Amino acid sequence: MNYEQPNLPYDLDALAPAISAETISFHYGKHEKAYIDNLNRLIKGTEYEDMELEDIITHAKGALFNNASQAWNHIFYFFTFSPDGSREPSGELRKAIDRDFGSFDKFKEAFVDAGVGLFGSGWVWLSRDDDGKLLITQGSNAGNPLTEGLTPLLTFDVWEHAYYLDYQNRRADALRALWDIVDWDIVEARY
Ligand code: MN
Repeated sequence: MNYEQPNLPYDLDALAPAISAETISFHYGKHEKAYIDNLNRLIKGTEYEDMELEDIITHAKGALFNNASQAWNHIFYFFTFSPDGSREPSGELRKAIDRDFGSFDKFKEAFVDAGVGLFGSGWVWLSRDDDGKLLITQGSNAGNPLTEGLTPLLTFDVWEHAYYLDYQNRRADALRALWDIVDWDIVEARY
């Protein structure tokens, strides 16, 4: 199987000013493309060749895990955003956020704090466990909650390549700006 990079469902400049067209062009067009190219190269002729990407992530180690997980994480990240989606959760997900974090505002604060507090490169995640309880977790480098048996709902990329062109060292500003482009209908569909 050869993994192909899906086209984004919005124009390169559609998420500005939260994420500029230049950042999307490099981040999705170059960084994510490289992870997918590496993944295809690493699985060729191995037992992983016909595995689902999620199964590679939960079974592989080392370079294959890193590239498979980064390939998956970036698609999950970029396909969470839209220029004109729902800017607040509703329904059962909203009830769970209020129950597990106190309020939507408190959730957003805790999520950004977890992203800012992650040392070095990685991801901050909102996931649910098998009982429907919500958790915020940090994943270094290519970390992915699938490896902990959790169901990922939302992630923010905190690698410098995700924000340095637009925000330089201001990671907190970069993460807070993403609340303007998260489409909560997409997050809810994952819940
Ligand atoms: Mn990235």
